[in-house]
Amino acid sequence: MIYLDYSANTPVDESVLDIFCETERKLIGNANSKHIAGDAARNMQDEINKSIADLFHICEDEIIYTSGATESNNLAIRGIAHTMRHVGKHIITTPLEHSSVSAPLTALQEAGYEIDMVKIGTDGRVDMESLRSLLRKDTVLVTVCAVDSELGTIQPVKEIREALKDYPNCLLHIDATQAVGKIDVDFSLADTVSLSAHKFFGIIGSGLLYKKKGLVLEPIIYGGASTTIYRSGTPTVSLNKSLETALLLALKKQKERYDTVSGYNRYLRESFAKYPLVTVNSPDNTIPHILNISVKGVKGSVFQKALNEKGVCVSVKSACSTDNLPSRAVFAVSKNRKNALSSWRISLSHMTTEEELHEFINIFEMCYNELTNNC
Ligand code: PMP
Repeated sequence: MIYLDYSANTPVDESVLDIFCETERKLIGNANSKHIAGDAARNMQDEINKSIADLFHICEDEIIYTSGATESNNLAIRGIAHTMRHVGKHIITTPLEHSSVSAPLTALQEAGYEIDMVKIGTDGRVDMESLRSLLRKDTVLVTVCAVDSELGTIQPVKEIREALKDYPNCLLHIDATQAVGKIDVDFSLADTVSLSAHKFFGIIGSGLLYKKKGLVLEPIIYGGASTTIYRSGTPTVSLNKSLETALLLALKKQKERYDTVSGYNRYLRESFAKYPLVTVNSPDNTIPHILNISVKGVKGSVFQKALNEKGVCVSVKSACSTDNLPSRAVFAVSKNRKNALSSWRISLSHMTTEEELHEFINIFEMCYNELTNNC
């Protein structure tokens, strides 16, 4: 198998899995119990909070542990919309968002909120003029991914924050799921930030939401106290320990891994240049980990299936979106529906090898010749 779908999931790092098992075996108490077994769990949780807070230059009580970015995005978006409903019901987003952002927004729209979609330039970035023209006094939220999952475009978060300076009621949510461990993310620019462990070699089902101090969010999950009032449930100390370990590793190795993957990305771009029917959809200012392409006249799902039959794993749109509809993200940059329908995504990591990529290009060529015969 040649696995080229690291943006959908990364394999867990052995050290992350080990620390999870070790912590799970060691701690038998509930971190909220008032006895020595509970204290041991609570102390470990406190240390984890401090370590993660230090990594992102945030405060310990600004961390909400969640089951992953889907929950974090829902909590941020629905929580802010609910809290701010007396101030305004206008929200701005982009066509590049993951379904865990766009779906809660659709639900809010059905509940009477007004959702506007900012324009995206051909470079895949938020068009700042379009954003400025959409902002209103009753805009309560702008929600943008730091890096989108289909094209890998890096968004100008600093400029977006600046555009909001005259709108004190407008909060900024950043979905940093595809950014953490790949590029630096400045949490101080946002009011809320989502991340998910399984995108950087952590365990699936673990993530967090950063929530700026003082911001009140309506919770989604009610119940007893946890590490925070914003998300009830017994603190998942072992998962949180594994998240901390995965984060420490990903951030420590970020530069080295980025450079390795940049080389792979260059090799793929150069290789694809030899095929006249290939369009590279990922603009230039993307993370190297994601490369989105289209083969003219062949549906993305058809190409993916052909590659899969030869043992290669790639993605058509993101793993969580609806099949057989053109990619909204690719359409946003190419403005070409057919091209968007033909698009698919290769995603790389430092674990990818040169041999795998050479073999992939051979297999790609076979599929290309078979599928484009009649074009
Ligand atoms: N946002 C983005 C940009 C993603 O790529 C993903 C995962 N594909 C999510 C959110 C959802 O993350 P999770 O799987 O942790 O719920």
